[in-house]
Amino acid sequence: MRSIDHWINGTTVPSTSGNTSPVYNPATGEVQAQVGLASVAEVDNAVAVAKTAFKTWRSSSLSKRAEVMFKFHELVLSHRVEIAELVSIEHGKVPSDAAGELARGIENIEFACGIPQLMKGSYSEQVSTGVDVYSIKQPLGVVAGITPFNFPAMVPMWMFANAIATGNTFILKPSEKDPSVSMLMAQLLKEAGLPDGVFNVVQGDKVSVDRILSHPDIAAVSFVGSTPIAKYIYSTGTANGKRVQALGGAKNHMVVLPDADIDMAADAAVSAGYGSAGERCMAISVVVAVGDVADKLVPAIAARLPKLKVGPGTDPTAEMGPLITREHRDKVASYITNAPGEGATIVVDGRENDLPQEGFFLAPSLIDNVKPGMKAYDEEIFGPVLTVTRVATYEDAVQLVNDHQYGNGTAIFTRDGGAARQFQFDIQVGMVGINVPIPVPVAYYSFGGWKASIFGDSNMYGPAGIEFFTRTKTITSRWPDPSTSSVDLGFPRTR
Ligand code: NAD
Repeated sequence: MRSIDHWINGTTVPSTSGNTSPVYNPATGEVQAQVGLASVAEVDNAVAVAKTAFKTWRSSSLSKRAEVMFKFHELVLSHRVEIAELVSIEHGKVPSDAAGELARGIENIEFACGIPQLMKGSYSEQVSTGVDVYSIKQPLGVVAGITPFNFPAMVPMWMFANAIATGNTFILKPSEKDPSVSMLMAQLLKEAGLPDGVFNVVQGDKVSVDRILSHPDIAAVSFVGSTPIAKYIYSTGTANGKRVQALGGAKNHMVVLPDADIDMAADAAVSAGYGSAGERCMAISVVVAVGDVADKLVPAIAARLPKLKVGPGTDPTAEMGPLITREHRDKVASYITNAPGEGATIVVDGRENDLPQEGFFLAPSLIDNVKPGMKAYDEEIFGPVLTVTRVATYEDAVQLVNDHQYGNGTAIFTRDGGAARQFQFDIQVGMVGINVPIPVPVAYYSFGGWKASIFGDSNMYGPAGIEFFTRTKTITSRWPDPSTSSVDLGFPRTR
């Protein structure tokens, strides 16, 4: 059985804790590897290495850091297929989803290539006679990233590209469910010329996370995952004096107004609801059908589902893969099981399928007449189950979205520009799409939800990422009275 190690100080390091966790192939249900789970001492070793590496890495020039990022970008592009295959075999994503994830991750490396520009400070001359004030950005030290299973390549890139480029050293604690991609990225960073100890991977579970949160030499923690854990990470990390950004779960609504293009909305609902088997924090989970639009929209979505090809990532024609584990698949299926008892209507039942039962497959499901108070509405399902809530008016739709505990992403489908503009004004959600179902911002903006989808006030990547991984130093300077200088400039000096 293959074992998956840590990456510390530029090389693989096997875990010595004796604790391991199985890594499945979700398409077959087989255990394909065991990942070693770090003990407290193993985390401490990685942090000590990163702390030593920080001394030299923070002094490296901006052009050297940009050069490493450019080279890493090149290497990731040339290993695109290999990375996507690793994502696919451990996560279960079909090739198009794995390639899409990588493309959105690569944007963050491109952004970090501009680090000389991004690290610019500011300068005010003559704030008082002979006095200047300027500010510079400096790295924090050793910083850590704790990432979820659903984007094993992209979410780490959201964090480490900016963290390293700004001069920090980094400890990545990837999800124990699909840890191999992080090891390949570590190798590529080394090949790109990153000095040993700047990027380290500690495989682990709660033991390593808790050590990261309490370690006195870790300055900041960047987290993406479910809401209960995000809340825990934020409260524990900040109580220990760390800078923390923590992004949590989601329940994204797609509001469809009566004037929307039905085919466009149905296509969007299918790709955004079932892409990556619904295991995306920006997946559309609820279609909010305004007025009588549901009468046309629900049949249009239902008609598309039998054509959606579900299969393993090894099948290049598959459009949707399995879920991450058997337990998660069964939990997602339970929302379908419970729906009729709560008063909802199952339109398409994904439990009825002829997919290989050893794999963690669940075909797409569509549930109509879902309302607040039902589990399928209130909770994050995180699977290929799309629900429909029918409301009478635009105001009812806005109220529904704003009353939900989550506020990660949302979208509106309409031909009416005024209605769309009003929606972007009214809606209490961090990322909004207008006829765009998954409005994940490009890497030169920043990513972040509102309400229970985020803890703290720091968004991820882009300008917010540069802010998060640096601190400002402001200098006020005055030079001795030039008239006392022995250097003769040949003309009178002014102050
Ligand atoms: P998760 O919260 O279970 O795990 C995330 C990380 O936390 C993993 O590295 C895991 O090892 C660690 N962890 C898990 N339980 C822990 C505990 N009790 N104590 C300490 N650490 C713990 O999330 P997941 O299931 O891997 O990912 C799916 C979730 O992530 C969904 O809720 C999804 O919405 C969310 N997510 C959010 C975003 C976003 O940007 N807002 C992006 C991707 C995923």
